[in-house]
Amino acid sequence: MTRITKIAVIGAGIMGGGIVQVCAQSGFMVSLMDLDDKIISRSIADIQSSIQILVSKGKMTSEEAEEVFGRIKSVSDLSAAVRDANLVIEAIPEKMDLKKQLFKDMDKICPPEVIFATNTSSLSIAQIALATEHPEKVIGLHFFYPVTISKGVEVIPSLLTSDETLKTALNFTKDIGKESLVSKDFPGFIVNRLLPTFINEAFNLVWQGIAPAEEIDRACKLTLLHPIGPLEMADLIGLETVLSVLEYLHQELGERYRPSPLLKQLVNAGNYGKRHGKGIYDYRTINPHFS
Ligand code: NAD
Repeated sequence: MTRITKIAVIGAGIMGGGIVQVCAQSGFMVSLMDLDDKIISRSIADIQSSIQILVSKGKMTSEEAEEVFGRIKSVSDLSAAVRDANLVIEAIPEKMDLKKQLFKDMDKICPPEVIFATNTSSLSIAQIALATEHPEKVIGLHFFYPVTISKGVEVIPSLLTSDETLKTALNFTKDIGKESLVSKDFPGFIVNRLLPTFINEAFNLVWQGIAPAEEIDRACKLTLLHPIGPLEMADLIGLETVLSVLEYLHQELGERYRPSPLLKQLVNAGNYGKRHGKGIYDYRTINPHFS
């Protein structure tokens, strides 16, 4: 079994930064890479403010915070990011062609023993793995948002993943303080077979004029005791990601995953979610956009 010491995270969006923070807080050296330097800077700033909150709450000393920062390196070059890494975690958009190209590129740079994990929410791990010469070392590690708070990680071996890679991944998940949830490599795995239908139906309720967005979220919080409503959650996940997952599940599993017309309409209009200022809610005015 490979002993993980250094990790590279590729993609500094909603998920990448959180994965980096959790790895660094667990004592791993970790580099963060993105094609866009501004996104890297924002991600590092988010990590810093999140760690400062821990310090101000007395959950971490200033010295420990410095050590955590010291373990994080940000780079804009893929070769520099994966240098010396023995685990690479991919967190780029939920598009098969983008992921395959990245895995192909990484395969040319990294020695065969380096384990490649994908944070895909739904796509086939085997298909991504086949972009490399060593599909046995490719595995799904599906983190959940917010990564620092969520307690579980789905671990998804494909039919091509070796037992060795699976053991290393399970061990790594434990080392970062998360529980492993092992799923077969089938569209959506466990959680994203369930969650997208719930979120999608909330969009349909708004689309059909049954209730406004705020009322639907309030209903789920007050009656189902969910900490956050499905539409608020969709805005946090990012509407493009929610739509990509639904489109893939619709294609693979059928009609019940057909994306809501409202979700499509919002994405087409550039309402990508909270990080972009507007999703189903407008965070610049705090009022629901569509009600
Ligand atoms: P995001 O769009 O916020 O971030 C993706 C980042 O990848 C962007 O900053 C982009 O510039 C960068 N990127 C694109 N191509 C790249 C490349 N070739 N090399 C380096 N960087 C590249 O996406 P996200 O929400 O962080 O999602 C990333 C992955 O994690 C997706 O597969 C998604 O399905 C999955 N995921 C997302 C969530 C969530 O709540 N958002 C939860 C679990 C899993």
